[in-house]
Amino acid sequence: MKKCALCLEKEATETNTHYLTDSIIRRTLNEGGSKERGKTLSFGVSNTSPFTEMSFKENTSPEKLQEALGRETTEEENEASIAQRDYSVDEVFCSACEKRFGKIESAFTDKFLKKLRMNPSLENASEVEFEKDIKIFRLFWLMQVWRSAVCTETVKLSSDISEKLRSLILLGIEVDENELKQFPLSITLLYTGTDPETHTENLVGYTSDTNPILILMGEFVIQFFENNESVRYFDFHGLNDEMTYTQFINYQETAFKVRVLSDIKRKAFLISVIDQDLVLPKFEFYMKTFIAFWVEVTGSPPPGHTVGEYTKELTDFNNVPVGQVLSEERVIDFTIKFIAKKIGLI
Ligand SMILES: [Zn+2]
Repeated sequence: MKKCALCLEKEATETNTHYLTDSIIRRTLNEGGSKERGKTLSFGVSNTSPFTEMSFKENTSPEKLQEALGRETTEEENEASIAQRDYSVDEVFCSACEKRFGKIESAFTDKFLKKLRMNPSLENASEVEFEKDIKIFRLFWLMQVWRSAVCTETVKLSSDISEKLRSLILLGIEVDENELKQFPLSITLLYTGTDPETHTENLVGYTSDTNPILILMGEFVIQFFENNESVRYFDFHGLNDEMTYTQFINYQETAFKVRVLSDIKRKAFLISVIDQDLVLPKFEFYMKTFIAFWVEVTGSPPPGHTVGEYTKELTDFNNVPVGQVLSEERVIDFTIKFIAKKIGLI
């Protein structure tokens, strides 16, 4: 019998447990920012694959999907996507613990979500502060960190911190608030306006850094440090400001301060993440693959101007469906045709 990772007692029977709270990330993952489940359309942010992969859930409208992919979806894609991009796991927790999570999630939703999500009064704000119910606020975010560490390879906590968090989350709202405040925690709200559709521009995923642990959850960004000694200024595409960042690292606080990035700053942040962290690393990989391919076919490296031409044509995204821009399928197909054309096969 596999035991539940939270209580360590009961059998882990629950299926489809979301380790990033579904109601928070759902708007980002769904077409049009809708709240319904099963309408996911998102792009992979995987560090391991150099290709952009599209994933979706079975109920995503076929027209939208085909438009994005430029072709019909395969059975394999359907299955893989359902398992991967939902940020959920099977048989890690028991049903009693699933209820424990649910209690924290609904308390957070009741007390805080409306104050943060699509709240027009935050349009020009640079921060928002909470004095009451910090316990619930912290429990909610710490739970995302801990569950991610339990359920993914990317997020890593040292074992003593993981154990400490586990015992605190297990106590739930009965926990001593001061115990929760020993973990330096920063929450940023990326102000996303009041149109739900805009939420699909945001990202969900993790960075591979361990200090701080950084989690993108739609319009929220979590930065978690294991202890006060490990707090450091961390530059991540303009998310933190060197002059003010310590103000937003909450530690033994009397009021919890949330940083708010304006819509303009949010867009700049996302563009920077996508370019630098997602597209650029892929590019290096494409270049290497292209050169290796070329050497294999011709026996010598490609001339400089040919590499330049390859890059230019590969990044000409006119008439390429969004979901295909840097997909494995397109890049391989493009590379083979490019080489064949260059060496005069076609
Ligand atoms: Zn349990």
